Amino acid sequence: MAYDDQNIFAKILRGEIPCEKVHETDHTLAFNDIARARPVHVLVIPKGAYVSSDDFSAKASDAEIADFWRTVGDVARMKGVADSGYRLIANTGADGHQEVPHFHMHVLGGATAGPMLKKRDG
Ligand code: 5GP
Repeated sequence: MAYDDQNIFAKILRGEIPCEKVHETDHTLAFNDIARARPVHVLVIPKGAYVSSDDFSAKASDAEIADFWRTVGDVARMKGVADSGYRLIANTGADGHQEVPHFHMHVLGGATAGPMLKKRDG
C-alpha cells in the first residue's frame, strides 16, 4: 500500500491541523488521541512516511526504530502510567482494523484495559 500524504496524521505532522502534543523527538511525535478510550490515550507516531507497523518494521532505519520505542516508554513514564501499567495497541491493516494509514501506537492507561480480545471461532 502506497503512503497517502493526505492522511490525518500526515496533516498533523505538517502542522496543517492541530494536536495536543505530549512529546517530540527527532524522529517521533506523541500526541493525545482525539477520542480518548482511557484516561491516558496517547498516539505515538514516526515522523517518517510509514503506512503501518509492517511498513515501519520493514523500511525504517535503526535510528528511527530505536527512537520510536524509546519514545513509547518515555511517554508512558511522562504520563505516570509506567508503574500502574498500560496497553500498547498497533492496529495494522484491514484485519487489524487500522483506520489511519500512518503507523501509530496507542498508549492506553490510567484504568484497567480489560481482558484481551474475546475468543471467537474462525
Ligand atoms: P486506528 O483505528 O487507526 O488504530 O486509530 C486511529 C486513532 O486516531 C483513533 O483512536 C482516533 O480517535 C484517532 N484520531 C483520528 N483522527 C484524529 C485527529 O484528527 N486527531 C487526533 N489527535 N486523533 C485522531
